[in-house]
Amino acid sequence: MSNGQHLRGRVALVTGASRGIGRAAAIALAEAGAHVIAVARTVGGLEELDDDIKARGGSTTLVPLDLKDYAGIDRMGAAIFERWGKLDALLGNAGILGVLTPLTHLQPKVWDELMAVNLTANWRLIRSLDPLLRLSDAGRALFVSSAAAYYNRPFWGGYAITKAALEAMVKTYAGELTGTTVKANLLNPGPTRTGMRALAMPGEDPMSLPPPEAVTPIIVDLLSPDCPVHGELVHFKKPSPPHPDA
Ligand code: NDP
Repeated sequence: MSNGQHLRGRVALVTGASRGIGRAAAIALAEAGAHVIAVARTVGGLEELDDDIKARGGSTTLVPLDLKDYAGIDRMGAAIFERWGKLDALLGNAGILGVLTPLTHLQPKVWDELMAVNLTANWRLIRSLDPLLRLSDAGRALFVSSAAAYYNRPFWGGYAITKAALEAMVKTYAGELTGTTVKANLLNPGPTRTGMRALAMPGEDPMSLPPPEAVTPIIVDLLSPDCPVHGELVHFKKPSPPHPDA
């Protein structure tokens, strides 16, 4: 593990930890010393993450769970309470793209799944885990949004609407946390080299995009107990390439 273990002793839950941004964030949180509760459906992906984190000296608890199983989210909250009595950090990262198509062509089952995974599951996470975040001395919640929330681009409606609603929900939740030690924020990671981005932009050269690891430092910062940011949508700015003469 790297030197900066400022999250040692803290418990962090990451949804969508089997690949992409969530997997990279889980590794970064573990490297910072947190015990990571890793949630996703793909058991193989979770086990590979576990191997990777263990090889770096960190620890995980794997939770294979479809986030559309809302009762499962509640059971997970109860299990976290029994085992740790608190939750220090929640990263609501899991998301799906759905189908890029006119709103009039969007299949109802695709709409329902988008709403279920990108929006309702995050509300159910807040509902189940808020008491545990309040039991932490500095609970931190961060939800991953997208610029699609405000571009209102044709054909992106299903996905964009879930992200716009997610932003409204998390900002509302943040207002309800006034007077507590819990802070809640949103992050727009920007275009990132993942499976979802490849699905959305099949003609794009993935190597032209930053890898998921580029966005993890800001995720760790926003989930750290000393982070003062609250109720914000934070836009990740890619680091500028070094000056050629530097
Ligand atoms: P990926 O498709 O690479 O990963 C998505 C993750 O979500 C997987 O771990 C997947 O796990 C999990 N997931 C999906 N559905 C479910 C479900 N029903 N239950 C549990 N877990 C689920 O996506 P990214 O890493 O690219 O995206 C992460 C977040 O970042 C998303 O919220 C996305 O909207 C956002 N984002 C991404 C951008 C990009 O350019 N990549 C840009 C802007 C925002 P599994 O399939 O194993 O369940």
